[in-house]
Amino acid sequence: MRKKNEFFIYTSMWMIAVIILLVLLVQNLGDARVVNYSGIVRGATQKLVKEEISGFPDDRLIDRLDGIIVNLQTGDGEFNLRRNGDKNYQEQLAKLKEIWEQIKREIQLVRQGEVSSDNLYELSQVHFTEADQMVLLAEQSSEQKLLKSIGIYTATLLLSVAAFTIVNRRNRRLLLKSIHTDNLTGILNRDGFKAEAASLLHRYPDNRYCLIEFDIDDFKFLNTSYGYEQGDRLLCALADSIQSTYNGDQLSARIASDDFVILVKQGPELVDRLRNLLADTLHLAFLNISEFITFTIGAYELPEDCGNIQTVMDKANMAHKNAKAEGKSISLWYDEMLLDKLNWENQLTKRMRKALGNGEFKMYLQPKYSLADLKIRNAEALVRWDIPDEGTVCPDQFIPLFERNGSIAEIDFYILEKACAYIRKYLDTFGTEFHISVNFSRVTIYQQRCYSTILEITDRFQIPHNCIEIEITESAFNGISEVIVQKILNLQEEGFIISMDDFGSGYSSLNLLNKLPIQVLKLDQEFLREYGTEGKAKNVISCVTELAHTLDMKVVCEGVEKQEHVDFLKKIGCDYGQGYFFSKPIPEEEFCLADLEQSAKELAN
Ligand code: C2E
Ligand code: MG
Ligand code: MG
Repeated sequence: MRKKNEFFIYTSMWMIAVIILLVLLVQNLGDARVVNYSGIVRGATQKLVKEEISGFPDDRLIDRLDGIIVNLQTGDGEFNLRRNGDKNYQEQLAKLKEIWEQIKREIQLVRQGEVSSDNLYELSQVHFTEADQMVLLAEQSSEQKLLKSIGIYTATLLLSVAAFTIVNRRNRRLLLKSIHTDNLTGILNRDGFKAEAASLLHRYPDNRYCLIEFDIDDFKFLNTSYGYEQGDRLLCALADSIQSTYNGDQLSARIASDDFVILVKQGPELVDRLRNLLADTLHLAFLNISEFITFTIGAYELPEDCGNIQTVMDKANMAHKNAKAEGKSISLWYDEMLLDKLNWENQLTKRMRKALGNGEFKMYLQPKYSLADLKIRNAEALVRWDIPDEGTVCPDQFIPLFERNGSIAEIDFYILEKACAYIRKYLDTFGTEFHISVNFSRVTIYQQRCYSTILEITDRFQIPHNCIEIEITESAFNGISEVIVQKILNLQEEGFIISMDDFGSGYSSLNLLNKLPIQVLKLDQEFLREYGTEGKAKNVISCVTELAHTLDMKVVCEGVEKQEHVDFLKKIGCDYGQGYFFSKPIPEEEFCLADLEQSAKELAN
């Protein structure tokens, strides 16, 4: 609607300018004719008098001059002359007309022979001078009019250009504002933040700033559990509170789904103050779930010469990403060590494929003991990376990295191959089955080829499928799709054992346990870690074990480190134990079942 109005205004203004231009042209032509005919009056009168004196009277010319003069005075007549309204011109014309009348009378007298032609000649000279003056006045008034019209025309033109520029600028401003604003929360978006932050840093060169990037942990899970409407409400509440707190010469923005940034003036306990603000916001708006919501924060202290805003944002983002990789509710400041870590990770990423070919990834095995008889029923395959000149690198250092870049699947399938090779050799040597559980990342499980590749590898080694236990961490089941559940079910139907790893480390939904095709539940080490300090931990372990048994699942408890753990787990009927008490993960070549069982028995006695 506004655009329609603006179009109408512009068109009208341009039309007015064009009309003024046309009027100007017509007027100019009319004025030129007046100048021209004023000249004719001057010249023709001279000619008439000369001919009269020479004895060649011309009455038709007298009538013609009469007509022209009347037409010039009134604007009416056969010569189509416009009346020139200029006062001076009209006065001069009136004066000339009087002389003309005298000339006409004198002509009659000369013709009747009553007077000589001297006086007529004198009058014609006077007429010429006055006519000259009249032509000059006609020219002057025409010029003045022309100048005036050009002035009006230029003013209209300038006015329309000015109006166009003003409206255009306002539109650009509105457009820029909408491009720079986050639709959902109404605060700045990424582009808006970049532009505003750059100008803020420029305007306040003496202020020292920090850039903080934070997000909500497991926001996707919150969305799916509590609904997208609640998710949006949460984002808006957070946006409102940061915007009203960090204003003036500070800035805030939402730069991605649940990613926020704040450009805040340096000061003590910045991160703690932000955490308090976020907690207060949650407490006010989301009383029922506020305790479950946590935030991960990355921060960067801007040096005096901080470079461009993109570099600053990259550094805060680097800190934030690393904080996220470390877990939940973490705060991390950017420093050069972080850069070292990233360089190290970069090197790992580059080396990974070659390392697979070189056999640098090794399978370690950690036994799982049946707590009833302390026999080893299974071992967990855990990867290690032996980097020449660097030593052995543990999975925590590279798995999150490879999960981020998607190459973890290659490692998972490599370890599966090694596990299959081990089982094959065991079968060939001892004639009995040995069971190994292999960890599969969420990233691998979600790959299209995952299921066919698992089948292809196990079948290549001709391994009975029940020898392979597929460990999938609990967090992989958050928001899992029906298609993936169906594929896991297919694997189970193929005879593979499916186990949920690290149960209790994230948001466990007991309801989910019932729906998923899980045969083994691995309790997270954290339960036993809290065993000594938290009275509740014992109850939780025994309740979960009981629940799992009613759902027909076996229970493995991770992190068994003490004799009292073994005693307790045995007492509550937990099926298997895994942990340093029995054995650390050991290289596959050193893994000897008989020795391990013997030493476990000795330990337990
Ligand atoms: P996880 O699957 O839960 O494996 C158990 C981890 O706990 C292992 O760490 C093991 O060494 C450690 N552990 C076992 N008993 C004890 C104990 O009594 N006390 C303590 N403090 N720790 C114990 P590891 O080998 O460093 O592996 C860490 C994680 O890396 C694994 O946790 C698993 O999630 C992942 N991972 C290991 N290998 C692979 C793999 O081949 N593929 C994938 N996707 N993930 C793997
Ligand atoms: Mg595991
Ligand atoms: Mg585990």
